[in-house]
Amino acid sequence: MKLHLKDLKSGFRNQIFKFDTDTLPNKGISFLSDKIKCEITSKKKHKSFNLYGNIYAKTSYECVRCLNNQSFMHVLPFDVNIVNHNFKNLFDTEEKEFITFLENQEYIELADVFTDVIALAQPMKPLCVANCKGLCSLCGQNRNISICGCSVPEQQTVWDELKKINIK
Ligand SMILES: [Zn+2]
Ligand SMILES: [Zn+2]
Repeated sequence: MKLHLKDLKSGFRNQIFKFDTDTLPNKGISFLSDKIKCEITSKKKHKSFNLYGNIYAKTSYECVRCLNNQSFMHVLPFDVNIVNHNFKNLFDTEEKEFITFLENQEYIELADVFTDVIALAQPMKPLCVANCKGLCSLCGQNRNISICGCSVPEQQTVWDELKKINIK
């Protein structure tokens, strides 16, 4: 997930790049495609470049209730400053995500920044549908597909028990 510093310097607009997902640091994201598409604009500024655009990534989650895998197509905006290391002090690095480069550097590595953007977009408690009925706590049947007939009153599912524990 590298870009030539030379290319950033000459600038480009809405250019499409494709990166291999297996070059990304492992943050527990399950990608459904071996490539991520990015649309990137590079704008030269004083002693820095502003790199922004969108990341298109298809990932999958396991629903926390029924454990089914759901796929999701993300369109994630990013905005990062690429800053000459020698002039780092000129920039408010708190304000925006930034990557520094050295004078003789050839490439900018974007893997960490992009992985963070994608990781942040992963839901904490993913559900396949908002009202997912989950698995039967007795027989394990996916209750979205069919009702198994076990006599578990609605109020006494595993999830309700967990909710009680959380409150205490
Ligand atoms: Zn579900
Ligand atoms: Zn059952």
